[in-house]
Amino acid sequence: MSEAAASTASRTPTTVSVDLGERSYDILIGRDIIDRAGAEIAARLPGARMAIVTDANVADSHLRTLTRSLDAADVEYVSIVVPPGEGTKSFAAFETVIEALLEARIERSDAVLALGGGVVGDLAGFAAGTVLRGIRFVQMPTSLLAQVDSSIGGKTGINTSHGKNLVGVFHQPSFVLADSGVLDSLPEREFNAGYAEVAKCGLIGAPDFFGWLESNWRAVAAGWPEREQAIASACMAKAAIVAADERESGVRALLNLGHTFGHALEAAAGYSGRLLHGEGVSIGMVLAFGLSEKLGHCTRADVDRVVAHLSEVGLPTRISQIPGEGFGVDELMALMAQDKKVKRGRLTFILAKGIGRAFIAGDVPIETVRSFLEEQIGR
Ligand code: NAD
Repeated sequence: MSEAAASTASRTPTTVSVDLGERSYDILIGRDIIDRAGAEIAARLPGARMAIVTDANVADSHLRTLTRSLDAADVEYVSIVVPPGEGTKSFAAFETVIEALLEARIERSDAVLALGGGVVGDLAGFAAGTVLRGIRFVQMPTSLLAQVDSSIGGKTGINTSHGKNLVGVFHQPSFVLADSGVLDSLPEREFNAGYAEVAKCGLIGAPDFFGWLESNWRAVAAGWPEREQAIASACMAKAAIVAADERESGVRALLNLGHTFGHALEAAAGYSGRLLHGEGVSIGMVLAFGLSEKLGHCTRADVDRVVAHLSEVGLPTRISQIPGEGFGVDELMALMAQDKKVKRGRLTFILAKGIGRAFIAGDVPIETVRSFLEEQIGR
């Protein structure tokens, strides 16, 4: 466990900084931060009106608490509620949000406040990055996945019929308020899906953190203080990578561990409740370790350890665990070829030399991936 993670053993929120020069910002992590959101916003963005973008599920559980806090701090706001689910990262929902922002006469000095999971954060961030050529935005992530991953780093966007996240902008938030208490209302399956991204941080470059998770994952699910410790550690890992490579010209690609396979599986499953993003990442990380073993980079024991931990937590680790009709190798290969990770016919994969030793392999032969998938698909 890192030093910053250990410091969350008090009720004081932990602050993790994302160091990006003039675009640097803070991530505040702790319980009940939603009650203080109004005061934080009034202090950090004085005079700005807020356009809250949220989804119907999160609105039911948390919008009242947030608006009470904004009222108490005399922060003006409007609320825009979109339907929940990956289908909302669409051109249609983007248009709805933009129209609502313009209808509310949003000005350049105002800000968008994304209250929700990664879907809301990606959509609202894209709207903030484009409306009036870009206004500020605040991330209030309410899913575990959004708290440790999607709210940090400024990637925003929507999906298209050609694949996920193919339209969007880099637009960093002004700050991030991550209330670990709001995760109490998150369905268990969604919590687990977010946990895949927490484990990913350990698998990429923090073997000690992965070991800590193997011993403490039950306490992380149960709540304070281990949950905050895990969120802070994962945020620190992501913040360090983003600070080193904001636009993904190098090391940031490591964060895609499990995502080349995962995105193809998500697309093949039709972005439906059949396979959540984090579940696709879980299977994708196992496949990435399996492919690493096949190419002689890591051992069978490493693969077994990844499978053991993810399945103990309740995450799927094999393609055959995805409910419904099976997938064809051709279909998955075609989807991977459409992903952004293809360069001149060679696939870029994030592979691993062991737990916490991920690296970028820019030249994995397509035929090796095909024969690997043929072995995996029926397992
Ligand atoms: P999500 O936004 O769909 O949220 C999951 C579900 O949980 C939704 O039904 C939502 O309504 C509900 N929910 C969220 N918070 C809740 C709460 N506190 N209580 C009750 N219900 C709650 O999905 P997600 O897993 O948060 O995010 C997945 C998305 O994030 C994908 O589109 C993925 O591509 C994107 N993503 C983006 C980045 C990035 O860097 N921008 C990184 C990783 C993932």
